[in-house]
Amino acid sequence: MSKACPICDKPADPAYRPFCSKRCADVDLQRWLTGGYAIPAVEGDDDGEERRVSDDV
Ligand SMILES: [Zn+2]
Repeated sequence: MSKACPICDKPADPAYRPFCSKRCADVDLQRWLTGGYAIPAVEGDDDGEERRVSDDV
């Protein structure tokens, strides 16, 4: 029913899901704030170039 906490792998608490406690939720939040997760940049300018290559072949 409840998933394991992604931080410490303990059973998640419904009140803090998907984490097992507020501490683990805070740990995850800190990872976001400190850049632990990389946010992929959207490269719209390169899209046209890729199409041109495909059309040439
Ligand atoms: Zn946890």
